[in-house]
Amino acid sequence: MSISENKCLACSLERNCCQQIDNLRLTKSEFHRHFSNHADKFHIKDFGAWLLLNAKKDTACPHWQGQCSIYESRPVECQLYPHTIGEIVETGSHVKLTYHARTACPLKDELIAPQEESERAIRRFAEDAFGVDAKIIVRTETASELLLLLPRKVAKKVMRVCGTMPRSI
Ligand code: SF4
Ligand code: SF4
Repeated sequence: MSISENKCLACSLERNCCQQIDNLRLTKSEFHRHFSNHADKFHIKDFGAWLLLNAKKDTACPHWQGQCSIYESRPVECQLYPHTIGEIVETGSHVKLTYHARTACPLKDELIAPQEESERAIRRFAEDAFGVDAKIIVRTETASELLLLLPRKVAKKVMRVCGTMPRSI
């Protein structure tokens, strides 16, 4: 999609994604390419192979100028949205990444990329972060995995209502 076809310019949210950076995952090379000169604007957690950025205040992404000024080379997580990366788990030479689309985007149905396309992009992210030799597994989050993230009481209630573990989403 070229910038002239960027549907986000018509976003109905008062504060769209680019104006409120929340949990943006970046590889270190994406960070050095686009964000290292703006590091003071973010809380940055370093997970070794990748970084998690949250804006310190209600400040827009430094590349937001009414539209993304680095659109053609924007980070993978920006390309993916409304898909978003969930967990990143490294075990030995294996790296497992999950993704989902539980996002509030009002244009989700129009913008969402086919799963194969998002998975290719996530694989690029993983290769950039962990190296091309890493054994990369990319999959959608399953409802059963989501249950594990819930407090025990809530998870039990969901299982009682469903009668069983829900199918994959
Ligand atoms: S991805 Fe969705 S929420 Fe984000 S700016 Fe575009 S339309 Fe708005
Ligand atoms: S890099 Fe571009 S697409 Fe990503 S948050 Fe910033 S302005 Fe938005």
